[in-house]
Amino acid sequence: MHHMIDHNRLFTTFMELCAIDSEPTRERLMADRLTEMLATLGFVVSEDDTGKKIGGSAGNLYARLEGTAAGEALLFSCHMDRVVPGVNVKPRIEGDYIVSDGTTVLGADDASGLAALLEGITVLKQTGKAHPTIELVLTVAEELSLVGSRHFDTTQVTSRTGFVLDAGGNVGEIVLQAPEHIKFKAVFHGRSAHAGFAPEQGISAIQIAATAISRMGLLRIDAETTANIGSISAIGPTNIVQDRCELQGEVRSLVPEKVRSHMASLSKVMQSAAAEYAGSVTIETVTSYQAYQLREDSEPVCRAARAAADIGVPVCYKATGGGSDANYFNIRGLPTVVLSCGYEKVHTTAERIPLKQLVLLTDWVLAIIDNGVDS
Ligand SMILES: [Zn+2]
Repeated sequence: MHHMIDHNRLFTTFMELCAIDSEPTRERLMADRLTEMLATLGFVVSEDDTGKKIGGSAGNLYARLEGTAAGEALLFSCHMDRVVPGVNVKPRIEGDYIVSDGTTVLGADDASGLAALLEGITVLKQTGKAHPTIELVLTVAEELSLVGSRHFDTTQVTSRTGFVLDAGGNVGEIVLQAPEHIKFKAVFHGRSAHAGFAPEQGISAIQIAATAISRMGLLRIDAETTANIGSISAIGPTNIVQDRCELQGEVRSLVPEKVRSHMASLSKVMQSAAAEYAGSVTIETVTSYQAYQLREDSEPVCRAARAAADIGVPVCYKATGGGSDANYFNIRGLPTVVLSCGYEKVHTTAERIPLKQLVLLTDWVLAIIDNGVDS
């Protein structure tokens, strides 16, 4: 329906953004280039001091384009960083896809959203089509458990309807629900002793940890809940009974009570293993982000669904197992839905995006803005 999308310009912008080095907390080049592009399109752009707070090279960008028509202001958001290995990306078109050279991720997560927004707004400018006020929040360090959006001051956003362009899956898929996420660090303490001369005087922290892990509910717990140990570390010589062993892990669930109750059961297992060996354990937990759930009749969901219908793609509602910046927007009272961007094999060096999906994503953005104009 939006025949003004310039496919080549869209693909060129997308590949230019992918090629900019922008690993988490190292988004300076990306922030500068986006600031320049948005200013050219008429946005007023500001950068916050999150970079300083998190030891990064750039802060979150907030950009605002005043509306040319009455209608509710709309927020769109993407993140500027991408997972490692995400520097020296060499994007290229291969058949119907854009791919990396296989040594890095592509960075379609989240450059696809950025490119769709830039192309969509370029189209609006060129056609002179009326639009409501558009606000953009472009975050840093999303891939580090949403640390950028955690520091973003949402009170400057006037929109009450938000769209985060940041999910795999086909354009038309709308994420209504995201999990709560708890990270934990457990340090087991035993007692060191010579492993050959006096092992009976030692308490092996490694043995305590192994016993605890063998009793833990891990990986898929139920349809809504997962748990994982990501690292286990205890390094020493073979002739010493190791007195320290550290575990790091996480629990997620779409149901907040389940995250807390599963974390409690893991803690109990660790404590009882420590007690059995007469050792001890200290456990620290951090809630990285809280869950949210939007109703199908909420404003952002309705708008995204209507717009998908307008561009002729099937609408599909889903839950995600991962957090996104939408967790923070929603927690802070700004109803925000996550839209699928069409990319595939995310967070791997095989990451790719079909050219057709990138065009459809731009079309979707334009249709959402169309739906935001009072007529
Ligand atoms: Zn992402």
